[in-house]
Amino acid sequence: MRITVFLGAPGSGKGTQAKRLAEDGLVHHFSTGDMLRAAIAAGSDIGLKAKVYIDKGELLPDDVMIELINKALKPLPDSSKVILDGFPRTVAQAEALDKSPRSRVSEAIMFEIPEDILVKRLTGRRVCKKCGSSFHVEFMPFEPGKSCQDCKGEFLYQRTDDSIDVVGKRLAIFKTQNEGLLSYYSRVGNLKKIDANKQVDLIQKSLVDLMS
Ligand code: AMP
Repeated sequence: MRITVFLGAPGSGKGTQAKRLAEDGLVHHFSTGDMLRAAIAAGSDIGLKAKVYIDKGELLPDDVMIELINKALKPLPDSSKVILDGFPRTVAQAEALDKSPRSRVSEAIMFEIPEDILVKRLTGRRVCKKCGSSFHVEFMPFEPGKSCQDCKGEFLYQRTDDSIDVVGKRLAIFKTQNEGLLSYYSRVGNLKKIDANKQVDLIQKSLVDLMS
């Protein structure tokens, strides 16, 4: 498999870009955050466990996350192209991927963006319950019950972990864990960086160039 890992703080646009790059159906996109939120919505065992961590802005245990991602990758053919968004979050998770030649990471792309912009983005983010698209209140004033621009589906809501107090905690955890991941991937020699504080289309173009 050719696995590309998107690294970056919550709100740095990894999910938006991964979704766009996977639109053609040739790339598989796995967002561990979305997978966990789906598990919560389904009321499954892992969902019940995940909710406790997610609501507090804390990371789930590595063994749970490694099992989740291994299960997702297992059915894919060896020729698959994969984008991982939100995984790995720790060096132990990164090592678990690289342990097997089949899931060895080809490149890790770090989305760089100033912290004050992240806080604004996260606390103003509203997400569609049905398709997962996200919007910012500044560009799409939030009214409870308003339907999603993309799928015309259910109403937009604010993730519990996008509240200002949980955002601070998530960013602090991100900073600590990310330092380890950056040193890990620079040691392995497959770390790339992009300026993620640009227009969505320009970022997509940089990513396509980096991933080709
Ligand atoms: P995200 O949507 O990527 O911001 O993830 C939302 C939340 O899901 C995180 O704050 C964690 O609680 C949990 N989560 C997602 N991915 C991971 C991971 N790789 N390791 C541990 N926890 C995770």
